[in-house]
Amino acid sequence: MQKSNLPFLSVLLLFLNSVFLFSQAQPYLLQPSRVFDGQEMYEEWAVLVEGNRITAVGPKTTIGAPEGTEIIGLSGHTLMPGMIEGHSHLLLYPYNRADWNDQVLKESNELRAIRGAVHAKKNLMAGFTTVRELGSEGAGYADVALKQAIELGIIPGPRLIVSGRAIVTTGSYGPKGFKPDFEVPLGAEPADGDALIRVVRDQIGKGADFIKVYADYRWGPNGEAKPTFLQEELEMMVKVARSSGRGVVAHASTSEGMRRAILAGVETIEHGDDGTAEVFRLMKEKGVSLCPTLAAGDAILRYRGWDGSSETEPERIRQKKQSFKLALESGVAIVAGGDVGVFEHGENARELELMVAYGMPPLDVLRSVTSVNAEVFHLPELGRIREGALADIIAVEGNPEADISSLRKVRLVIKDGVVYKRP
Ligand SMILES: [Zn+2]
Repeated sequence: MQKSNLPFLSVLLLFLNSVFLFSQAQPYLLQPSRVFDGQEMYEEWAVLVEGNRITAVGPKTTIGAPEGTEIIGLSGHTLMPGMIEGHSHLLLYPYNRADWNDQVLKESNELRAIRGAVHAKKNLMAGFTTVRELGSEGAGYADVALKQAIELGIIPGPRLIVSGRAIVTTGSYGPKGFKPDFEVPLGAEPADGDALIRVVRDQIGKGADFIKVYADYRWGPNGEAKPTFLQEELEMMVKVARSSGRGVVAHASTSEGMRRAILAGVETIEHGDDGTAEVFRLMKEKGVSLCPTLAAGDAILRYRGWDGSSETEPERIRQKKQSFKLALESGVAIVAGGDVGVFEHGENARELELMVAYGMPPLDVLRSVTSVNAEVFHLPELGRIREGALADIIAVEGNPEADISSLRKVRLVIKDGVVYKRP
């Protein structure tokens, strides 16, 4: 083909592409048995979608439909905002299939990115139309590439907000246990002191929507979790990220690691296993949210042989239930995020089931995975079913307020007005 034909062809392709997108954007009238709008549950409501927006919401009898509207009956279903996964690793898959060390050290970034594309689709089809990615775990900026591929329409997947490589202190992160002469590729980018300014800016320049840091890690004298960054280092990273309009989030499981990160001004604490009533009070006071990742701990103990029964409940699970209870009592905002990737992508609802099992009221869990996550992640057009919101909508069989497991029965998925799954 002559090179001179290329511009014409690409214009033609652009045109065809827009026709295709337009044809998908016909109005839809969704008629479920009930609507959860991100806050409350309403019986016998309907929702009208035009283009990529929700244009009407309310009692079925009050919603008119323009000519050409397709009616989608969803009897027996609950319609709700597309769920938002708060803590994901699209570049990881379950550790019982391949050890984390082996995934980081033996698999190429290219292989991992291709896996990531498959994982992205699984998240979307499981009703998670937005995913907050918490670090590529050694796969460079493959998360930024996945985000681009989804935005360009190359692969189906959720909206992504990504953190890129994440930041750790020198010496703290894995993989570990090699002859000191080896420079082993790490699961995150190490930096310390003033160099943190450059690294935060570099990660932003390479596509990070926010910065993830590890405020503690299992590097104590006896392999126990201990703080990593100094208070000043955390403050510096927050300051640098903030001046670009971005936030910092911190992995922290010790109360001292949490305390430093909270005082430094991070937006969310990931895990928070050893949080005390005092630390959670401080979080609440400073407006920092907690992402408890209950499903990750549960999955890892099952990989080590726990059968899941309460008689053989490991000490770590008992403690996690206790600290989650303290968090709930403190009134700190709870972000729903399971650390999916540690367990199977597409089974994200495990976190939501565990939140209920560990004592959170189902309606609060539904709020957490929709409107709360949207608010904490600065996504004002998402997480709600309301006029003018972006049309990220799902429908699940049954009523998730009565049985949270119905969040596994996702029968309709609409993202940005495009239907990806329907009954
Ligand atoms: Zn994680």
